Amino acid sequence: MYSLLLSFFVASRILISQASPLPFIFDRAVNDTTSLAPTPQNVQRQLGPLLAKGASLYFPGTPQFQDATSRWSTYKAPNIAVVVEPGSAKDVATAVSFANKFGIPYLAMNKGHGSTTTLGAIKNGIEIHVRSLNSITINADGKSASIGGGSYNQELINKLWSNGKASASGSCACVGLMGAGLGGGLGRYQGFYGLISDNLIDVDIVLASGETVTVSEKSNSDLWWGLRGAGHNFGIVTRFTMKIFDSPAQNWYFAQFVFTQDKLEKMVGLVNTMMDNGNQPKELMNYYLYAWNPAISTTEPVVIFTIYYIGTKEQAAKYTKPYFDLGPVFHNDSMVAYPELASATGLGDEDFSCAHGFNRVQYPVGLLNYNVSNTRAVYNLFKEQTVAVPALNLSTVVFEGYSLQGVKAVPAASTAYPHREDNILASILAVYAPNPALDSVAIPWARKVRDLMHSGQPGRQLNAYVNYAFGDETQEMVYGYEPWRLERLRGLKKKYDPKGKFNFYEPIKV
Ligand SMILES: Cc1cc2nc3c(=O)[nH]c(=O)nc-3n(C[C@H](O)[C@H](O)[C@H](O)COP(=O)(O)OP(=O)(O)OC[C@H]3O[C@@H](n4cnc5c(N)ncnc54)[C@H](O)[C@@H]3O)c2cc1C
Repeated sequence: MYSLLLSFFVASRILISQASPLPFIFDRAVNDTTSLAPTPQNVQRQLGPLLAKGASLYFPGTPQFQDATSRWSTYKAPNIAVVVEPGSAKDVATAVSFANKFGIPYLAMNKGHGSTTTLGAIKNGIEIHVRSLNSITINADGKSASIGGGSYNQELINKLWSNGKASASGSCACVGLMGAGLGGGLGRYQGFYGLISDNLIDVDIVLASGETVTVSEKSNSDLWWGLRGAGHNFGIVTRFTMKIFDSPAQNWYFAQFVFTQDKLEKMVGLVNTMMDNGNQPKELMNYYLYAWNPAISTTEPVVIFTIYYIGTKEQAAKYTKPYFDLGPVFHNDSMVAYPELASATGLGDEDFSCAHGFNRVQYPVGLLNYNVSNTRAVYNLFKEQTVAVPALNLSTVVFEGYSLQGVKAVPAASTAYPHREDNILASILAVYAPNPALDSVAIPWARKVRDLMHSGQPGRQLNAYVNYAFGDETQEMVYGYEPWRLERLRGLKKKYDPKGKFNFYEPIKV
């Protein structure tokens, strides 16, 4: 009865989804200004009326809470007690100030693909689910778009494509633009335009203080540097402006090949030649992985290799011919409208690569090119473990070889993204149904595969892309080895987040 009355009290201002009875959600009552404990009732009563029309609060035990907290990787997932779905950008600032007042930890979440284990440090937290801030408007100049902090790749691709435009975005359909962009943001258009972060013009962000500021080259310019590569550390983006361009091609060509493992060395040799140490044409990119496909073999993993080309089949033929000649067991090639490319190649919203609900242990390493004997050793280690423990046979090792001109055209020191010299992003993804008994198998194995990949490039430091990092890497691996980088980031952290409120995603240690 009490909760019904309470709903009625706030219903005129917000939509409230509630479990009955409402659980006690916060361990701590550290409010300086009131003796009321921050229970769900209090969150409803105190935060609810402050939020804009259309905002929602979700509590455990409801389908809305379940949806809003569902994650791609369930391993070390954040522990969330209440979800705030903002009805406006101002609600984000309101929620941050409220959480600060009560000493409640908080975390921005959009599409839920963040997988670093540092996310597991949040306990009984408020999730600020920015997904509702997902508007995309192409500005009158036709050269920029104003985008909500909760937008994601496929939304941007669709909107731009239908207006004959293009820009940087991630390559999987499902990923949040800011989740990716604050850490850099690699993708298929990077040969033309660079990273997502390289295309930002300005960013509206709610800082740990609860203040909303605009960050750009001219406004808060110190933070502008840090946001583009280490941005998860500094606040919650409610809106940003991004450069857009006339689309170079409305349709793309792709060719996907499946090879048996005996072709591995030859295939990798061809890829090295094609990638030309990072100098491949900006229209040309590739993506390959090891995976089990029982339709082809029940005894060994296969090699799935995809070429993407911004142009026609005929123009791509000189690059694809050697792979056709190599004798794939299966191939599929086609011209598709750009918005359909991700799903045509297994990276769409509905594909397993985007599916929520599995434990996914990920370790990345940047490479310059392929060490042929090392890729064999990696394949063997992948096979050995997935044969020994079949519960791991949804795992993959992925090598992303996008074109690089746009990335390398941006001076390395001009942003906090530290890995512009890498030509390939390699990663192991150990995937399994949540099962604590498997964690102790999957994690050391995944780390071993990553270390093995790294050992194929003697003398190179281990670069770990922040958006794929597992969470046990050193600060240098993630944020760069030049001492000035970490010094600068530490200075920004002290200035903009002195109490470490944004410490749940690969935190900069001060
Ligand atoms: C299937 C898949 C494909 C991927 N493909 C690519 C790719 O092509 N290129 C690439 O660069 N990366 C890629 N990634 C990695 C991706 O960049 C990160 O997982 C990223 O964190 C996902 O953002 P999200 O919104 O989807 O996830 P979330 O878990 O919702 O967000 C991750 C973190 O980002 C922060 N965050 C999100 N939104 C905001 C915001 N508005 N303001 C402030 N902070 C925010 C929060 O700290 C949050 O914990 C991929 C990941 C997956 C799982």
